[in-house]
Amino acid sequence: MPYAPETAQDHAFLTQAIKLSRHALEDEGKTPFGALVVVDGEVVGTGTSSVVELRDPTAHAEVMALRAAGSKLGRHLMEDAVMYSSSEPCPMCLVACYWARIPRLVYAATSHDVAVNGFEDLQFYRQLALPNAERTLLVETAAGDETREIAAKALASWADKLPFAVEPKL
Ligand SMILES: [Zn+2]
Repeated sequence: MPYAPETAQDHAFLTQAIKLSRHALEDEGKTPFGALVVVDGEVVGTGTSSVVELRDPTAHAEVMALRAAGSKLGRHLMEDAVMYSSSEPCPMCLVACYWARIPRLVYAATSHDVAVNGFEDLQFYRQLALPNAERTLLVETAAGDETREIAAKALASWADKLPFAVEPKL
C-alpha cells in the first residue's frame, strides 16, 4: 500500500489506535490490535480484537470499530469515514472497509510486523492469490443446475423488489 507522509491528524489517530492495542494487551489480556473510525475529525467508533472473548472469529479490531461506528452513526455506509488501525488489516477487515464504502484506511504496523509475531494475516493474503485448488480452504459448489437456479431466483427476487433497475456489478 502506498506510503503517505504522516500528518499531525493521522499521527494523533494512529497513536490512539496503538494505545487501544496496548490497552487490549496489557489491561484485558487480549491480542494487541486497535482500530478507530473517524468522521469529520471525530472518533465515532473504536474496537479491539475480541475474537476469543466473544467466541467470534470475525470480531477483529476493525470489524468491532465498524460495528460501534454503525451503531453510533445509525448507518452502515461510511463514505465520509477514515479507518485508523494499529496494524495493517487482514483481508477480512480490509473487505469490511470496502463494504462500508470507507474511502481511506491508515495503519501503523505492517503485515510483515504482524507476521513476524505469529499472526497469519499475510498467509491469508497469499492464499487469496492462489488458484482455488491450491488453497487450504477448498471453496466449491455442490449445487447442480436446478439448485443453483433456485438459489439465484432468491437473489433475483430481491433485485426485482428494488425501486430502480439493478446495475450488474460484473
Ligand atoms: Zn482483521
